[in-house]
Amino acid sequence: MRHIRKAAVIGSGVMGAAIAAHLANVGIPCLLLDLVPTSLTAEEERRGLTLDHPAVRNRLATQAIARLHKASPAPLYRPEFAQRIQPGNLEDDLAKIAEVDWVIEVIVESLEPKRQLLERIEQYWRPGTIVSSNTSGISINEMVAGRSDAFRRNFLGTHFFNPPRYMKLLEVIPGSDTDPELVDFMADFATRRLGKGVVIAKDTPNFIANRIGTYGLLVTFEEMQKGGFSIEEVDAVTGPALGRPRSATFRTLDLVGIDTFVHVAYNVHAHVSDPVEQQAFIVPDAIRSMVERGWLGEKSGQGFYKKV
Ligand code: NAD
Repeated sequence: MRHIRKAAVIGSGVMGAAIAAHLANVGIPCLLLDLVPTSLTAEEERRGLTLDHPAVRNRLATQAIARLHKASPAPLYRPEFAQRIQPGNLEDDLAKIAEVDWVIEVIVESLEPKRQLLERIEQYWRPGTIVSSNTSGISINEMVAGRSDAFRRNFLGTHFFNPPRYMKLLEVIPGSDTDPELVDFMADFATRRLGKGVVIAKDTPNFIANRIGTYGLLVTFEEMQKGGFSIEEVDAVTGPALGRPRSATFRTLDLVGIDTFVHVAYNVHAHVSDPVEQQAFIVPDAIRSMVERGWLGEKSGQGFYKKV
C-alpha cells in the first residue's frame, strides 16, 4: 500500500522551492536539496566562512526557502509552513532520500544532468519509493534508460505548472515501464491531497501543455515582430484583458525563465522528424541572445522586463 508522508525535492530553483512549498502547504515535510556552491559570496567571505561550512554548502536551498516569503503570489499558505522544508545539499544529504516516500527531480531542463542525478538517486533508493521528474518535456523513458527494472517501475513524470500552489494542472506521464498502479495512485494523490486537476500524458516531446504552449509563444513572438508590436502591447491584450488573471505572454516567460524556455523549445526541435514542425520550434536569435547576456527573467532580475 503506497503512501506519501515525507518527500525530497531536488533542485531549489524557480519550481523546486515552490513545489516544496506546496507539499509543506498540505502537511508533507520535505528535504530540499541543491548543488554545493563552488565559490563564496562577498557576504560569506566577510563572515569568515569557508566552502566546507554547512551554511555555505546549503546556501542554494536555504536562500530558495527565504525567497518563498518574498514571492508574489505567496507560495506558502502560512509563512511558518516553511519550517516543514529542510534545506540541504546533494553531497551531504542525498543518502537521506532513503527516509522519504517520494523524490521529485526538479533540476535544469537537460537530459544528461537528469540522467546522472537519477543514477545517483538509485544508489540510495529504497524499493517502493516513488521517484518523479518535473521535466517540461524530456523523455521519461530516456531519463531512466539503464536504471534497474524496479526503479523504472517506480518512476514517472509529474509536471507541475508555475506557480505550483496556484496552477491546477498536473501532467502525470508514465514511462513504458511505470507501474500502472503507481499512475493511479499518483493521479488520486495529486487530486485529493495536492488539489490538482490531473491529465495523464504520453511520453512524447513536451507532453501536451508545453507542446502546444511553446509553439504558441514562438508564434506570438514571430507575429509580434512581423506586426511591429511591442512586448507591452502584446502583454496588454494577452493578460487580464483575455481573462488570464495576472500573467500575460512575456510576463509569463519571465516567470518561467528564458533559459528554461529555450531548453523546452529545443527539446521538440531536436526530437521531431517533420521538418515543418522542426522549423516551428526554432528559438529566435533575439531570445537566445537574452540567455547569453544573462537575461533569464525574474530569477536574474532582467528578462523581457526589468524586475523592480
Ligand atoms: P531553475 O533554473 O530555476 O533551477 C534549477 C535548479 O537546479 C537550480 O537551483 C540549480 O542549482 C539546480 N541544478 C542545476 N543543475 C543541477 C545538477 N546537475 N544537479 C543538481 N541540481 C542542479 O529551473 P526551474 O525553472 O526550477 O526548472 C526545473 C525543472 O522544472 C526543469 O525540468 C523545468 O523544465 C521544469 N519546469 C519549469 C517550469 C518553470 O516555469 N520554470 C515549469 C514547469 C516545469
